[in-house]
Amino acid sequence: MDIDWTSEDHAFRARVRAFLKAELPSNWDEISRHGPGSREQTEFSLEFCPKLAEAGLLVPHWPLEWGGGDRPAWEHFILGEEMWAAGEPRGGQYMNVNWIGPTLMRFGSEEQKALFVPQMAAGRAIWCQGFSEPDAGSDLARLRTRAVRDGDHYVINGSKIWTSYAGMAKHCFLLARAGTGDDKAGIAIFLTDMSTKGIEVRSIPSLIGHGDIHEVFFTDVRVPVSMRLGDEGEAWSIINYSLANERVGIPRYEFASRVLDQMVDELRRRGMAEDPVMQVRAGSAAAACEAARLLVYRTVDKRARGEAIGAEASLARVAVAEADHIVTDFGMEFLPDAFCGTDHTAFVAHHERAIVTGIAAGATEIHLGLIARRWLGLPKGD
Ligand SMILES: Cc1cc2nc3c(=O)[nH]c(=O)nc-3n(C[C@H](O)[C@H](O)[C@H](O)COP(=O)(O)OP(=O)(O)OC[C@H]3O[C@@H](n4cnc5c(N)ncnc54)[C@H](O)[C@@H]3O)c2cc1C
Repeated sequence: MDIDWTSEDHAFRARVRAFLKAELPSNWDEISRHGPGSREQTEFSLEFCPKLAEAGLLVPHWPLEWGGGDRPAWEHFILGEEMWAAGEPRGGQYMNVNWIGPTLMRFGSEEQKALFVPQMAAGRAIWCQGFSEPDAGSDLARLRTRAVRDGDHYVINGSKIWTSYAGMAKHCFLLARAGTGDDKAGIAIFLTDMSTKGIEVRSIPSLIGHGDIHEVFFTDVRVPVSMRLGDEGEAWSIINYSLANERVGIPRYEFASRVLDQMVDELRRRGMAEDPVMQVRAGSAAAACEAARLLVYRTVDKRARGEAIGAEASLARVAVAEADHIVTDFGMEFLPDAFCGTDHTAFVAHHERAIVTGIAAGATEIHLGLIARRWLGLPKGD
């Protein structure tokens, strides 16, 4: 893998930075302090993403026929790095760009694609992901929300939990059990309109942001059969495709390494630059960020070549979570006062985001298990 950026890549990054500088308002820190799922940030994303789309910067890597620019997968990653490091002005719409849109383009019916993909490419679609349930998180195959066929509809009953962005989402990428068995084969995907009668959304208060996570209850919710994505038995392979994209979707190492640089600058200002213990710890944190970056780049490289991504996604995911935690631990140890008080500094923002790294999009322990089996070839434990 050649890891040098081309002059074209540098120019693209400069264009994205110039766009952010021009479009983020002076009160952006205030808007973004409550996280990507807050009402403020979601509303902002509905102004910001259409402008991004108009500039050809929302979905450059998508095919031309679906509003993209047929650009290399690398541009998608450069964009993701800059957006995440800037506080994610796309709000929850990053999910459409990273995996919901590509999944629909690949597996959706003509009707589904025409209905949903152009809205996403235009930057006007808020979706949520209805996977986890109170008794089905890591072990997703245990999900119990049920979809029963009734003529040309399914009737859905059950509940989801930890659903990001559900408070303002117009649609849900919803998993429910349509078949009779209790296994993966019985699961189906429903592209569900969140305004359908019988859906109730309750916000869960959390440390990581206002309005970010929710419980969603489904009582006799009628979803047309035409809104089932793929066949009933096909859902698990579609989900695996989606998750491979989602796992390396957020380039957390970029914000982590920028925050680490700011921490080191602050320590220099405080006259601590020559502390050897601090230097060793700062060096370890920088190395962790770069290791995470390179492991993610390896998956992008495979994607750019059209190759399937396997356990590399888990390796990258674990390294990204490690880097996030090492940087926040470094800050807590050497700059503890910077995390106190009410100022929402970049250090605090990073700490809040790092809290959930290693839980959302699959717990670290699950990825370590996948690495053991799929990368190291170890047998499955009991
Ligand atoms: C901020 C945030 C946003 C989220 N957003 C969404 C969303 O939008 N949509 C959605 O569907 N879900 C979402 N989730 C849920 C997330 O996917 C789950 O929290 C995650 O899959 C873990 O599931 P769980 O919480 O049920 O924990 P559990 O699966 O109960 O795990 C608890 C602990 O046990 C460990 N464990 C479990 N099984 C094993 C095993 N086989 N081997 C070793 N250790 C194991 C886990 O690693 C973990 O430490 C979100 C979570 C967070 C924190």
